[in-house]
Amino acid sequence: MAIQTINPTTNQVVQSFEEMTEPAIDAAVAQAATAFEAWKTTTYPHRAKLLRRVAAQLRAQKPALARLVTLEMGKLLAQAEGEIELSANIVDYYAEHGAAFLADQPLHPDHGTALVRHSPVGVLLGVEPWNFPFYQVARFAAPNLMIGNAVLVKHASSVPQCGIAIERLLREAGAPAGLYTNLLISGRRADALVTDLRIKGVSLTGSEAAGASVAAAAGQSLKKSVLELGGSDAFIVLEDADIDRTVDWAVVGRINNNGECCVAAKRLIAVEAVADEFLRKFTAKMAALRVGDPLDPAAELGPLSSEAAAAGLVEQVQRAVHNGATVVLGGQRVARPGAFMAPTILTDLTPANPVFCEELFGPVAAFFRVPDEAAAIALANDSPFGLGGSVFTRDVARGQRVADQLDTGMVFVNHPTWTQADLPFGGTKRSGYGRELAGLGIEEFVNKKLIRVSALIDPF
Ligand code: NAP
Repeated sequence: MAIQTINPTTNQVVQSFEEMTEPAIDAAVAQAATAFEAWKTTTYPHRAKLLRRVAAQLRAQKPALARLVTLEMGKLLAQAEGEIELSANIVDYYAEHGAAFLADQPLHPDHGTALVRHSPVGVLLGVEPWNFPFYQVARFAAPNLMIGNAVLVKHASSVPQCGIAIERLLREAGAPAGLYTNLLISGRRADALVTDLRIKGVSLTGSEAAGASVAAAAGQSLKKSVLELGGSDAFIVLEDADIDRTVDWAVVGRINNNGECCVAAKRLIAVEAVADEFLRKFTAKMAALRVGDPLDPAAELGPLSSEAAAAGLVEQVQRAVHNGATVVLGGQRVARPGAFMAPTILTDLTPANPVFCEELFGPVAAFFRVPDEAAAIALANDSPFGLGGSVFTRDVARGQRVADQLDTGMVFVNHPTWTQADLPFGGTKRSGYGRELAGLGIEEFVNKKLIRVSALIDPF
C-alpha cells in the first residue's frame, strides 16, 4: 500500500512519501533500544513531566492537528478537535495516575517480606489504524512511556502526516531521540519487525486479518501481543426506553466519526413493542443528516476514509440485498466527488446472509426486530465480535442485568459504547484481547516482578 495523503473529500492525492529503507528501520530500532536503556532509569515524575508537555503541545497545536486529521481521513473538523482534546486528556491521565498504578504491591507471605515491582520490558511496536490517528496512538504510547518502555509506531499508510506530526510533537516536548519513533512503512513489513529480537511486544489496533498476522509473528517469536480489532456492537432498545432520546443516541452511535468506529452501534435491536416507532423516528433522523465537506461546520456526515472504503461498503450493502436484506434508506454513493456514502439502513438481515457476520464500517445501520429482551440478548451475542454494546431502558437495574448477559468487553447502559481515559477499552471473541486505557491499560507491557526477602537460614 502506497504511503500517501489522499484527501477523501476530493479523492485528490495531496502528498506521497517514500517508505523507510531496511537500513533506516534497523537504525531506528537500534536507537530505540539505546533510548530505552536510559529511559528505564528515569523516575516517574521525570516521565510524567514529559507527558504533561506532550499534552500541552497537543492542546496548543489543536487547530492545525485537527485539520490534518480531517485532511487525511475525512473526520468532521469539530470531531477532529475533540479527538485531539481526548488524546491530551489520556496523556495527562497517565502523567497523573501512572506512578500510583505502578507502585510496588506489598505481599504478605508467612515469613519475611515480598512485593511485586512493575518494571518496563523494553522497546514495543504499535501498529495503528487511521480512524482515530491521534487517540489510538495516545492510548498505546502514553502508558508505555510512563512505564519506562520505548515505542516504535507503524501508523496506517493513509495518515502519514499525522504519524509524522506525533513524532515531531514528542521531540518538541523534549523526548530523547529514539524514545518515540514513527516508522514510515507499509503493513506488510510490520510482521518482520515483530520478530526482531530487540522488540519485546506488539500492540495492534485494526482489522482481524492484520491482527492475526501480527499475533502469529509475535507467537512464533514468543512475545506478548495486545489486539484491538473490529466490532459489531449491538444497541438494544427495550420497551421501557425513552424512545426519542434513544433514537438521538442511536444516530450519534452509528454515525460518529462518519460511521468508522470500531465501537459504533452497528446492529440496532429493538423489541417488538417499540420497534415500529423506533425505526420510523431513526429513519427520519438518518435521512435528515446533512452530508458534506468535513471542514464545513454545518456538515453532519463527512466522507469515508478512502475511495476504496466507500466502494467496499456499497458492495457489502449490495451483497446483503442480494442475499435477502432490504434497504430502508440510502444504500448508494452521494452524487458528488469524494468518498461519500449516503446514510443507510438495512432490515431483514438474517443469520443466513453472509453480511450478518460482517462489520459494516461506515454510515450503515442494520436494524433488527425481536419479540422480547431474551431474544435481544441472544441476537446481540450471535456475532463473531465481542467489543462493546449498549442497552437502553428506564430501569437501570434491568439494564445492568442485560449487561451481565452480553458477551463483550464493554457494555454501556443508556449510552452507546464510548471511550475516555479512565475507562478500560477492549474486547472478547474476534474483537481481540488485552485492554487499553485506565489502570488496566498500563498493565499490559510490564514485568510484574516478584522480589522476595527472607531471613538467611540453613537450607535444611
Ligand atoms: P487495517 O487494514 O488492519 O490497518 C490497521 C493497521 O494495520 C495499519 O497500520 C495497517 O498498515 C496495518 N496492517 C495492515 N495489514 C497488516 C499486516 N498484514 N500485518 C501487519 N500490519 C498490517 O485496519 P483498517 O481496516 O484500516 O481499520 C479499521 C479496522 O480497525 C476495523 O475493523 C475497526 O473496527 C478496527 N479498529 C478497532 C479498534 C479497537 O480498539 N478495537 C479501534 C479502531 C479500529 P497499512 O495502512 O500500511 O496497511
